[in-house]
Amino acid sequence: MISDKYGITIGLEIHAQLLTSTKIFCSCSADVFDMEPNSSICPVCTGQPGALPVLNEEVVKKAVMAAIALNCKINKYSRFDRKNYFYPDLPKGYQITQYFYPIAENGYLTVKIGDESKKIRIRRLHIEEDAGKMLHSADTITEATHSLVDLNRCGIPLIEIVTEPDIESPLEARLFMEKLRDILRYIDVCSGDMEKGALRCDANISIYNKNTLERSPRVEVKNINSFKFVEKALEYEFERIKSLMEKGEKIEQETRGWDFNSRGTVAMRSKEEESDYRYFPEPDLPPLIVNNEYVEQLKNSLSELPDEKIKRFQREYKISEYDATVLSSSKKLADFFEECVKLYNNSKRLSNMIINDLLSLLNEFNIEIDESNIKPETLVDIAKMVDNSKISTNIAKSVLEEAFKTGKSPTEIIKEKGLEQIDDEEFLNSIVDKVIRLNPKAVEDYKKGKKGVVGFLVGMVMRETRGKANPKVVSRIIEDKLKTE
Ligand code: ADP
Ligand code: MG
Ligand code: ZN
Repeated sequence: MISDKYGITIGLEIHAQLLTSTKIFCSCSADVFDMEPNSSICPVCTGQPGALPVLNEEVVKKAVMAAIALNCKINKYSRFDRKNYFYPDLPKGYQITQYFYPIAENGYLTVKIGDESKKIRIRRLHIEEDAGKMLHSADTITEATHSLVDLNRCGIPLIEIVTEPDIESPLEARLFMEKLRDILRYIDVCSGDMEKGALRCDANISIYNKNTLERSPRVEVKNINSFKFVEKALEYEFERIKSLMEKGEKIEQETRGWDFNSRGTVAMRSKEEESDYRYFPEPDLPPLIVNNEYVEQLKNSLSELPDEKIKRFQREYKISEYDATVLSSSKKLADFFEECVKLYNNSKRLSNMIINDLLSLLNEFNIEIDESNIKPETLVDIAKMVDNSKISTNIAKSVLEEAFKTGKSPTEIIKEKGLEQIDDEEFLNSIVDKVIRLNPKAVEDYKKGKKGVVGFLVGMVMRETRGKANPKVVSRIIEDKLKTE
């Protein structure tokens, strides 16, 4: 992707659905995913004559929370405007948005790219409503023979976040989106489910010749709804624009869409001008005033953000940056870890068990930590048993898996399966003798100076005892014996 000759400039416009129970200007439910079409609508959100909007305070609250988390300046005065256009999924004939006076501006988000941290500036963040959804006959899922319209999404509250063109590669664009999703999820402002349309983005890209500084017009790819396609669509556009530039052909300033069938972008329309929308102030809503106390109160109520948490975890629990980052990847997981550490202070052991064993189980079964059988107490019990040499780390892994699948307590599982670690020296001595007898070559090698065979012999004893022998004791016995052979 990295080109010596061409540089890339990318800016994103992101729409995030706010997690409110009702819509932005009426009391219809906002939880419309999977709902029967047109079952969460009313005169307000379908734009019936005479129906008047009333702003949902929850929307303001969540928008301000997002703005705080994205380091934006929050405007005391903001206002709503009408963006006029005709489309069947927009029965009012206009969308209510904040065009002239957005609620927040001038923020940034720090994204980790390799080992470096890069600040990507956020130009503005504003509140607006979503439009409905068209279902066309070509759609194989609905199998409709004609076009249908579902107005459930009309009036779903959104924030639009517009970045400055600070992003310099498709990968950076994806990392930015992922980081943004993590933050919005953390503060419970947006579910971040791209596949459900709760987070979508339009990506603007232009490229320039690094030697001549000749720059292509800007192309916008609309409605990208997966992290993978943010990167894919932009990579595709880069190649497409580059080859046009190299051939000296004209590049249109236009809007394109990602096409799943051709796995490329296709032209949708030439870019509309601002005047096409005839923006004007929304006469049915008063200006929105948020005072300092309101903002301060929300600032104080905001939970710790991922970046701060990662730093604190490293400091407080003496774990690596990598481990702290993995544990902070979701708030639930981070809370779980902290609950565990409260009960038992071997933070390293607990962090290792979560990262190496528990996470893969959660991924395999595709559930979150709070839906699993593993409670902080369960993990702590197992960790303590390892530390007291009651079970080995390998057995711990299988006990965790069994507890995960059955909900049984670790003690119960160990008793049932006879998994307790064997420390009995007399018994282990006899096994070691047997292993040494069966592996004369290893003994020879040891005498020739190959100390590595100790590990091999420990492995053989572990196999004999089905993983239950205490490896430390076994290792000591083997070394003693080999020395005196
Ligand atoms: P418009 O009003 O036409 O949508 P904006 O100025 O609002 O344009 O910018 C929209 C998005 O395009 C922003 O995210 C911005 O960062 C990005 N952008 C602006 N100029 C460029 C450019 N030359 N190349 C790539 N992205 C750009
Ligand atoms: Mg724009
Ligand atoms: Zn409604």
